[in-house]
Amino acid sequence: MAAKEKYTEPTYLEYGFGELEHKVITPEICCRCGTCEAFCPRITHKENRPSLNEYDPLCGLCFAYCPRTFLDMEALEKKLFGRVRASDEALGIYTMAASAKASPVQGKVQDGGVVTALLVHAMKSGQIDCAVITDRDENWNPVPKVARTPEEVIAAAGTKYTIANSVVGVQQALDQGCHKIAFVGTPCQIEALRKLKLSDEPYEIGQEKIALLIGLFCMENFDYDLLMNGLVKGKFNLDPKQVEKFEIKKGMFRVIDKSGKAHEVPIAETDQYTYVGCGPCFDFASEMGDISVGSVGSPGGWSTVLTRTPVGEKLYSSAVAARAMEEKAISEKGLALAKKLAGDKEKRFNLKSAEIKNFGVKR
Ligand SMILES: Cc1cc2nc3c(=O)[nH]c(=O)nc-3n(C[C@H](O)[C@H](O)[C@H](O)COP(=O)(O)OP(=O)(O)OC[C@H]3O[C@@H](n4cnc5c(N)ncnc54)[C@H](O)[C@@H]3O)c2cc1C
Repeated sequence: MAAKEKYTEPTYLEYGFGELEHKVITPEICCRCGTCEAFCPRITHKENRPSLNEYDPLCGLCFAYCPRTFLDMEALEKKLFGRVRASDEALGIYTMAASAKASPVQGKVQDGGVVTALLVHAMKSGQIDCAVITDRDENWNPVPKVARTPEEVIAAAGTKYTIANSVVGVQQALDQGCHKIAFVGTPCQIEALRKLKLSDEPYEIGQEKIALLIGLFCMENFDYDLLMNGLVKGKFNLDPKQVEKFEIKKGMFRVIDKSGKAHEVPIAETDQYTYVGCGPCFDFASEMGDISVGSVGSPGGWSTVLTRTPVGEKLYSSAVAARAMEEKAISEKGLALAKKLAGDKEKRFNLKSAEIKNFGVKR
């Protein structure tokens, strides 16, 4: 009788797109960050979701870097910061918090124009050779873009409040031969790229060329069709082409049209437009960024900035020294509010995650 072979538990390296589909796409926890499509030539974007367009060699790459298959924040924190965050560090580990504003403000920025100013300064000072950002078309469809000049960065300023597969822009930047790539994105996108950079057994896809991760604060993102059809067209009777800016201010979701008129609803009434894949997310402040930027915590026209890593600290201090930005102390009240929102998002996650089977994301 032949000896029984020892059964070994499969690792994610043997998993393929089928597993990603089973654990992430079908249960609708995919955040559509674009990571699987970016780095696997066999995965494409079809009908608003990642889709396999060729045979699957089960290489495991898509499964390994997806921020929703497994995400061990403690392990990532240990690798990135050398320690795990304490229970009172709701905004994640950071070395400095401030309010800042671009000087001068360039482009149609969202808040203090800090993200745009940081990227322009990083480009001019040679810290990066391109920036992967999220631009938009005239209907407010978000479009990942590789900006090679300060003018291109400035032209894409401002928040697009709909899900974007922005990480595909990193592959475009690699294809263009960039080797000091900055990426700006939401917490899920930043988590994916940090996973990619810190992996113990990395696939060689050029991760060492990703030089800077600027994370945005994010409570949730919206589904393009739901937001445009339900709110913009449905409730406000506006064509997306007529929209000048979307913003969240003082508990209201506001759509400013090109005549300057504001149309608004309480943010609590926008749950119906939220992207389903945002449900299982606990990360408000892009805790895996080199530097994080948001609006909450600072006065109108200013941004809240958290530096986290030496890369983020160097960028921020050199931008202030070059007078690309002005800064002031963040108020205690502002910081407390940001922490409260981060805590609220985590509580929401804890409630939801229990409902999701096979969920590998943990604090
Ligand atoms: C979906 C979403 C939700 C957010 N929710 C909050 C929140 O709850 N609380 C809070 O304080 N701040 C939130 N922010 C951050 C805030 O809207 C501003 O982006 C931030 O304050 C930076 O402002 P700024 O003037 O420095 O940026 P700008 O100088 O105007 O630059 C903005 C940058 O963001 C990038 N960007 C825009 N839209 C997207 C997108 N959909 N995906 C990836 N990158 C994008 C652009 O490429 C641009 O480079 C959110 C941002 C997004 C994208």
